Amino acid sequence: MSAAPRPDPVPRCAVVGAGMAGLACAQALAAAGWAVDVFDKSRGPAGRMSTRRGDGAPQPWQCDHGAQYFTARDPAFRAQVQHWQHAGVAALWPARFARHDGQGFEPLHTPLERFVGVPRMTAPVAHGWQQLGAAQAPHGRVQLHLQATVQALEPGAAGWSIVCAEPGLQSAPYHAVLLALPAPQAVPLLRPVAPAGAVLAASARMRGCWAVMVRCPAPVPLPCDGAFIHTGPLRWVARDRSKPGRSGPETWLLHATAHWSEAHLEDAAEDVTAALLQAFAALGGPDPAGVQATAHRWRYADTEAPLTAGCWWDAHAGLGLCGDWLHGGKVEGAWLSGRALARHVLGKQPA
Ligand SMILES: Cc1cc2nc3c(=O)[nH]c(=O)nc-3n(C[C@H](O)[C@H](O)[C@H](O)COP(=O)(O)OP(=O)(O)OC[C@H]3O[C@@H](n4cnc5c(N)ncnc54)[C@H](O)[C@@H]3O)c2cc1C
Repeated sequence: MSAAPRPDPVPRCAVVGAGMAGLACAQALAAAGWAVDVFDKSRGPAGRMSTRRGDGAPQPWQCDHGAQYFTARDPAFRAQVQHWQHAGVAALWPARFARHDGQGFEPLHTPLERFVGVPRMTAPVAHGWQQLGAAQAPHGRVQLHLQATVQALEPGAAGWSIVCAEPGLQSAPYHAVLLALPAPQAVPLLRPVAPAGAVLAASARMRGCWAVMVRCPAPVPLPCDGAFIHTGPLRWVARDRSKPGRSGPETWLLHATAHWSEAHLEDAAEDVTAALLQAFAALGGPDPAGVQATAHRWRYADTEAPLTAGCWWDAHAGLGLCGDWLHGGKVEGAWLSGRALARHVLGKQPA
C-alpha cells in the first residue's frame, strides 16, 4: 500500500515592518493562503503614519506627527481608501489650505483630495492589521509581533530564520523574507546575505525631519488649517484638530524643512522646539511662552529622490524589498509597493 502524497506545506513568510507597505504586502499574501509572521520594532503598527497621544494636563491630547494626509490617484488605492472610508477609519480632510512665502498666508485652491486616518493617522493601518488578525480560512494566518526588532536574517537548509533583539521570540524557517523598512534600515540586514539588495537600498538617500507638536490654550487665529511654508526653517504647519474625528485641545504640528532638519539632526530636542516655536510665532502662531510642546526627530522621513522600481524581489534567495522609497515616496506609494512585491512573490508578474 503506498502512502498518500502529503499536501504541500503552507508557504510561510516573514514581513519585517508593519507600516503601510508591510500591511499591503501581508494582506495580499494572506489572501493567497500564505502564513505570514510580521515583525515590527515599535509598540504599535503604522510606522511613519504616526500619532502621538498624551494624557497631560489640562486634558488628553493627540497629534499626527508623521504623515499629515495622503492622496489617492491609483484606481486600486482609491478603492482601498473607499473601503477605509466605509469602515470609518479614513475621511477627506476638507481643510483651509494655504501657502506662505514670507509675505503672509495665501489660500490654496486645489481640487486635490487629501485624506486622513480617523480618529488618528494610525487608524487605517491599525484597522488593516486587526482585520488580518481576525481573518479566517481561506485566508492564510497572519501574526503580528510588536516590539520585535529584527537584527539579522539567517539562511538555512529549511529556509530563512529571523534573529530578533528581544529574547524569547521564536521564528520558524520561512520560504521568503520581505523587508518593508526605510531603505537605511534595510541595508544592514541585507548586506551579509543579499549584496545586490543592499546596494539598491543604499542608493536611496533618506532625510530627517524634526516635528514639533504644540498644545495651545486657545484656538490659534491663523486663516488656515494646513499651510506649506516657503520661508525660514518650517515647511508645513497644521491644525491637527481640524482633521475629521478629532476632539480635545487645539494642537498644531510643525514640520521643519529637510535642509534645516538635516543641519540640526543631532541638536537637543529643547533647542529644536525653541527654534521652531519662534518660527511659528513669526508666522502669527502663539507666543512660545504660553504653549506646551514636544519634539520628535524622524531620522528617515522622506527620500530625496524616491526610486521608481516599485519593489525588489530575488526569487532565488526568497528575499524582497518594498516601501515608499521604492515607489514615489508617499503613503500611496508604500501601499502600491507592498502589493507589487506580493505579486512578484506569488509569481503573478515577472521579477
Ligand atoms: C514627517 C513626515 C511627514 C510625512 N508626510 C507625508 C504626507 O503628508 N503624505 C504622505 O503621503 N506621506 C507622508 N510621509 C511619508 C509616509 O509616512 C510614508 O511614505 C509611509 O508611511 C511609509 O510607509 P512604509 O510602510 O514604507 O514605511 P514605514 O511607515 O516607515 O514602516 C516601516 C516600519 O518598519 C519598522 N522597523 C524599522 N526597522 C525595523 C527592524 N529592524 N525590525 C523591525 N521593525 C523595524 C518601523 O518601526 C516601522 O513601523 C511623511 C513621513 C514623515 C516622517
